[in-house]
Amino acid sequence: MKILITNDDGIYSPGIAALARIASKFGEVVVVAPDVEQSSMGHAVTHSRPLTVRKSPIAFEGIEAYRVNGTPADCVALGTHMTQIDVVLSGINLGPNLGNSMWHSGTLAGAKQAVLLGMKGIALSTPVGKEEPNFSGFESYVEKTLKLLLADTELGLYNVNFPPNPKGMKWTSQSVRLYDGQIVPGVDPMGRKHYWFTVTPLEPAEEDTDRWAVENDYVSITPLRLDLTAEVMLQQLRKERPLD
Ligand code: MN
Repeated sequence: MKILITNDDGIYSPGIAALARIASKFGEVVVVAPDVEQSSMGHAVTHSRPLTVRKSPIAFEGIEAYRVNGTPADCVALGTHMTQIDVVLSGINLGPNLGNSMWHSGTLAGAKQAVLLGMKGIALSTPVGKEEPNFSGFESYVEKTLKLLLADTELGLYNVNFPPNPKGMKWTSQSVRLYDGQIVPGVDPMGRKHYWFTVTPLEPAEEDTDRWAVENDYVSITPLRLDLTAEVMLQQLRKERPLD
């Protein structure tokens, strides 16, 4: 199995080295990742300037790796153009991608780009505190997750989040009750006003959702689809408000 790994934290993130190390147990790994951090860039693609691909070592030795001056979606498009790929893994992101964060996530966009191109895509993330991330607490669960999701021959898009020390795994839905972005004003050293866009949860998560699972120390696996159509509303509109 040929595995392409990307991320949105950039090629020098310890998360991508950890994922490359674990994924190399399942197949041949090639890393194609942004040269600088691209977190919260969502599914942006670069179309108004050329992209470059440069060979670049990562912290886990023996893996073919390249850095790209573009977004996670660019990296997946380029990586799958360069070589035949069976599955794309994106991560391990240093920070959770839960609930409404999925709309902004560059990590998830890497996996989404794979599905757009006809491959399986799996996004992997973990919350981090002030300390350096410690992957050993959930490494066995990354392995379990890959074993589970890579064995499935169906195409699929999955968003996976690992708590630091999991006690089990759950299939979950996306928590959509809340929006978690808040604007916090501040003042720079020159006395000018500026603003921070923050991601702080505002209300408790619903049971069996992704946020709930990670808050309760379960690995959260959310199957996703690209079709955003509101099916129930569509049926209702066709019935009650037919258009000419
Ligand atoms: Mn990130």
